[in-house]
Amino acid sequence: MQSETVFRNKAFSHIYVEDRILNIEQYRGRAEEILKHFPEAEVVAIDHYKDVFNRHKQNYVMQHESQALILALKQGNFVYPGAEVCQNMGNKHFYYASCMMNCLFDCEYCYLKGMYPSGNMVIFLNLEDIFTEVLGLLEKHPVYLCVSYDTDLMAVESLTGYVKKWIEFTSAHPELIIEIRTKAGNVDFRNLLPVYKDGMTDGGGRVIFAFTLSPEYVVSHYEHRTGSLENRIRAVKQALELGFTVRLCFDPMIYCPDWRKEYGSMLERVFSEIQMDRVYDLSVGSFRLSEEYLKAMRRNMPDSAVVQYPYQNDHGVYHYSEKLTDEMEKWLVSRLAEKVPVDRIFRWQDQDRG
Ligand code: SF4
Repeated sequence: MQSETVFRNKAFSHIYVEDRILNIEQYRGRAEEILKHFPEAEVVAIDHYKDVFNRHKQNYVMQHESQALILALKQGNFVYPGAEVCQNMGNKHFYYASCMMNCLFDCEYCYLKGMYPSGNMVIFLNLEDIFTEVLGLLEKHPVYLCVSYDTDLMAVESLTGYVKKWIEFTSAHPELIIEIRTKAGNVDFRNLLPVYKDGMTDGGGRVIFAFTLSPEYVVSHYEHRTGSLENRIRAVKQALELGFTVRLCFDPMIYCPDWRKEYGSMLERVFSEIQMDRVYDLSVGSFRLSEEYLKAMRRNMPDSAVVQYPYQNDHGVYHYSEKLTDEMEKWLVSRLAEKVPVDRIFRWQDQDRG
């Protein structure tokens, strides 16, 4: 799945590999599997991924145009408590795991552009160490874990197989729920079916595929390299037909000229093609970003309308004015409520107000 996305763009002409990976058989094998996809790439041995990733004076935007890949082993923490600006979907013990840094896709508004010094992509090969940390948390309480965080795991599944591995791990631990968020369109869920079916003996619902849906205008102007709306809808339909648990995320809503028309025509397509009563739940939220990240992005992207928009700053978080936020989100919630009971629609601000 998704291999076309990888091969079509010119990413990964340079691949950096940490030396120590070569000394551990399990990880060396995993690295070799990934390298096989890029026979033309120049492979460079490095001591530590930070030597490349954290270099001074990198230009994230330029670098993302011709991304290099870094294969590394992660140390320290792997799992973090969910950030305030993220939806917890009603889950108390909400965490995210970072098994990759940066994304094959290139959303103009993506917070990663403000968070990381580099546009290059890092894949951590020691996934099992992340599992160990999750097991430690599971000893204390149930865990709701976003695993496609700081990246889009589905976009590179053909390289890593990590989605499959997460499903296998989750199926073995009944107190764990994972969310795999994606904007991918070129996905074939039949590849995941064997492991999903075998693993989810409790009837499913603990592996949630969360598709972000955006109007064509937003996809074409701001969500570069992601799946088209048409392809995302097709992937959602296939996932539902095969019995996967699907969440639809209308988050972040992005203000655009005539946003009602753009979001309205997206909803018409969604309602006519997706069986909404089979969707697990929905989330709604408008663009919001920490001051620190947005400032960095504004420096690097002087011509980006979505980045340069005059957002309102509230205690270090930039967002649309309260009036516009309310107008956009309430409008969307009321349209969705025509098809789905309101208790299955999570609005970020409702949850925030607690
Ligand atoms: S798909 Fe998500 S992680 Fe990837 S660039 Fe877009 S917003 Fe960022």
